[in-house]
Amino acid sequence: MILPYLVRLACLSLACFFLVHVALAIGMNWLAPWVLAMAKPGKPSSAARLLLAARLLPSVVGGLVVAGVCVPSYLWLEPEATVEQVGLGCLAAAVLSVASWGIAARRGLRAIGLSIRYERYCRKLGCETRLAGENTRVWVIEGAASSFALAGIIHPRLVISREVLENLSHAELEAALRHERAHRTSRDNLKRLLLLSVPDVLPFRVRLLAGLESLERGWAQFTEWAADDRAVGGDASRAVSLAGALVRVARLGAPREASPLMTSLVADGRDLEARVDRLLDAAPGGENPGQVRPRLVVAIVLAAGLFGAVIGGPATLQTAHRLLEHLIR
Ligand SMILES: [Zn+2]
Repeated sequence: MILPYLVRLACLSLACFFLVHVALAIGMNWLAPWVLAMAKPGKPSSAARLLLAARLLPSVVGGLVVAGVCVPSYLWLEPEATVEQVGLGCLAAAVLSVASWGIAARRGLRAIGLSIRYERYCRKLGCETRLAGENTRVWVIEGAASSFALAGIIHPRLVISREVLENLSHAELEAALRHERAHRTSRDNLKRLLLLSVPDVLPFRVRLLAGLESLERGWAQFTEWAADDRAVGGDASRAVSLAGALVRVARLGAPREASPLMTSLVADGRDLEARVDRLLDAAPGGENPGQVRPRLVVAIVLAAGLFGAVIGGPATLQTAHRLLEHLIR
């Protein structure tokens, strides 16, 4: 099929992303048990960062290869007047790429839509109030069972049911509020949206890629543990209060309404026992969520610079162009 210059570029970029993404996703799926084993002994916040980075890596590198290699080499080395056929293999890869991106975008937009609907539900049934020590307003909802969550992305808001407020002691409430504040500082709802919006390997579910799903589950678990640690800050009495709050909220039952972009105090009943045990075994925590290690930042900047220098070099672009010529036929 003969296509105009820019349509061929779009086709080639989509096909290139698809192939790089599939290769890296299969590799990461295979490496997932090893990444999880590496994350486990570390601090929960470091483990959560590592697992999130591992899960997003195939999409991010796929995008970088397209933007840094595929597009520049095509624009530099492909004469505009060339009339060239686009092979069926390239077209098929481009179509699969569009379908995967479309499904991911739909999933992300649906999550945003459900989040807006949940906000409306809170506005309708709840009353806004201020709690001691909390500098933003809180929605208190009547008859919402065990709701205790941070909802939304840009201005996340605390949503608490009246039953929870009436059942928690002052110390338990304070510990639970610190837990949700830790989620807000880490922007965990935004990370949730990112995970929902990355494309799948193929535009349909592949059961063999369970490793990638285990990275997401691991991220969710370590995110909760990290928020517990920050809420407790190494203080044994706060740890007991938070454990008490978790058990009391869990006993009230599941919330009536939920949003995909919210972090609940008791997000997953399966992990409740483990969280309570680690709080009661030894008061964990003492991490500063805003602290960014300078050495880590320097390493990331150097790695990005090296990556840019290697992939942006003339020799790399010429080799890439030859490979793309094979791909497009
Ligand atoms: Zn939480």
